[in-house]
Amino acid sequence: MSETVIENAEFSGLSAVVTGGASGIGLATATLLAGRGARVACLDLNPEVPAPLTGVRADVADDASVRAAIARVVAEFGGLDILVNNAGIGAQGTIEDNPDDEWRRVHEVNVLGIVRTTRAALPHLRRSSHAAIVNTCSVAATAGLPDRALYSATKGAVLALTRACAADLVREGIRVNCVNPGTVDTPWIGRLLDAAPDPAAERAALRARQPTGRLLAPEEVAAAIAHLAGPFSGGTTGTALAVDGGMSGLRVRPA
Ligand code: NAD
Repeated sequence: MSETVIENAEFSGLSAVVTGGASGIGLATATLLAGRGARVACLDLNPEVPAPLTGVRADVADDASVRAAIARVVAEFGGLDILVNNAGIGAQGTIEDNPDDEWRRVHEVNVLGIVRTTRAALPHLRRSSHAAIVNTCSVAATAGLPDRALYSATKGAVLALTRACAADLVREGIRVNCVNPGTVDTPWIGRLLDAAPDPAAERAALRARQPTGRLLAPEEVAAAIAHLAGPFSGGTTGTALAVDGGMSGLRVRPA
């Protein structure tokens, strides 16, 4: 059997849940995991996903909805091995721009969404011998981006939560890691650009922010998530893997 065949079957026999799996990074991740042999359920406000993915309507901001969705997936798949906490929403503005209700609303999804899904999944992950959790964090957790105070605060919490959960679960053999993407060309960024006064100039500014000079593809982030979810990263827990075109670590000469 060739090496490629082994790698393609990396997730054979495993079950995965990807929140926010109907679009962008989540859909690319779900598709990649399924392509490598996993059964994958996408928990999303939008349950419409292409075959062979299973779409399950769920709102990570609602505890009952998350519990029901995880129970349904476990009943259908017979267990759960991999949880990708990816659902998230954006927010723009400085610390003065968003009212308290908006701070609560975005934390409900980006932070408490992960808490709820992880709590609901853990009893099932504990029965797996390949248990892994991967959270979609952001370069905003560490970089100090302008005009993103609320969003950055939620992602800083995701980074801290990732490390704390990794410490709590390491002796149980459950690994917890996160990815920190830069700017990824997803429908989310499409909406952001559409709303900008000059979308072309905004796209150019987003490209220029990354030393590679281009936006990332969702599949590039999905590959990093799959690595952290899979057996080839068995020695890795409590880490954040930057997939940011060099944004967080490099200083380059102006073009
Ligand atoms: P996207 O908008 O394309 O997809 C997000 C998906 O999450 C959608 O299908 C949406 O329906 C779902 N979702 C939103 N709220 C939900 C809720 N309450 N319950 C269940 N599902 C919900 O976005 P994306 O760009 O793919 O972003 C995915 C993740 O990546 C987010 O956590 C985001 O913070 C993170 N991220 C994105 C970028 C980027 O540049 N696109 C950069 C860094 C981090």
